[in-house]
Amino acid sequence: MAKQPIESLTATTAATEAVALRAELNQWRRYYYDNDAPKVEDDVYDREYARLVALEGAFPTIVTPDSPTQLVGGTVKAGFTKVQHDIPMLSLGDVFSHEELQEFDDRLRQNVDDPFDYNCELKIDGLALSLRYENGRLIQGSTRGNGTIGEDITQNIMTIASIPHELKRPLTVEVRGECYMPKAAFAALNERREAAGEPIFANPRNAAAGSLRQLDTKVTAERQLSTFMYNVADYAPLTARTQSDMLEEFADLGFAINPDFKVAHSMTDVFSYIDHYQNERPNLAYGIDGIVIKANPLPLQRSLGATVKVPRWAIAFKFPPDEQPTLLEDVEWTV
Ligand code: NAD
Repeated sequence: MAKQPIESLTATTAATEAVALRAELNQWRRYYYDNDAPKVEDDVYDREYARLVALEGAFPTIVTPDSPTQLVGGTVKAGFTKVQHDIPMLSLGDVFSHEELQEFDDRLRQNVDDPFDYNCELKIDGLALSLRYENGRLIQGSTRGNGTIGEDITQNIMTIASIPHELKRPLTVEVRGECYMPKAAFAALNERREAAGEPIFANPRNAAAGSLRQLDTKVTAERQLSTFMYNVADYAPLTARTQSDMLEEFADLGFAINPDFKVAHSMTDVFSYIDHYQNERPNLAYGIDGIVIKANPLPLQRSLGATVKVPRWAIAFKFPPDEQPTLLEDVEWTV
């Protein structure tokens, strides 16, 4: 049913619609984050979420603490030990058009005196993970969870070949990034599951999440997961002072990074990066659902900080849905 224009709503009618939307979105979030098996396609979720953002934006008094606009991710799965993220693992704000992206840039530059570049990165369709190293030795891996409390997946990440157990330098550092399942591994996994009469995964993101959040480490080890690291809890132990140099430093330390990042000196550069990778998307060996632009200087990232949910120094430009999504009615809850 067509939604009423926001301008024609009162605070009461907006609040009523928001209650229903939150209930619907929170239910979808449980399927997606907690069970790794979405009930609806991402673009359906994104449309309803955008409507809730618009309602809450027009009537700020109707915002509630349990609104999906105020929450990151899902809950800790039974059987996992909880890990506290002293520096939260956040989500990302998103935009869907060049105009909205330009508005983000305009807003940011109004608040920053000095000129700065963006680092453009691919938005890998996986799940966020955090790796703690002490004196260069890997001591803990965790999921994002609800942003402040994640799941301890140390034994599972030890089985992922792209994650170094020992860094090239004896740093004490917490490095963050994305765990993903390459498209070929995803297709082969679903083929095997179908042949065995097991429920298939909806997409590589859910397959990666279902494979990493496993109580049986042997299952994770079989699933051919990989990683790209792109973030740090605190950059102080690193030499790099820009996002792009940090990615190079990660590579030198032994991490897998996505090589397709690019420093953009203007929004024209950003838009051509987007166009290029929107075309290249089918040819990549892993799924992407957009691109992320990040203010390149790390001290600027730190000074801009974050809201309860998203950093102020970065934004995701989301691509339209992939051409051939798995029919969600063929997918059952699965781990
Ligand atoms: P998100 O996935 O849209 O963006 C934030 C995440 O992007 C980060 O946490 C990180 O894991 C990831 N990321 C990948 N590459 C990155 C890079 N280079 N730099 C930084 N981060 C990178 O946000 P979210 O809060 O995890 O999830 C919200 C999205 O999940 C929604 O927009 C929707 O598409 C989807 N979702 C779908 C359903 C559903 O039912 N289909 C339900 C809930 C959420």
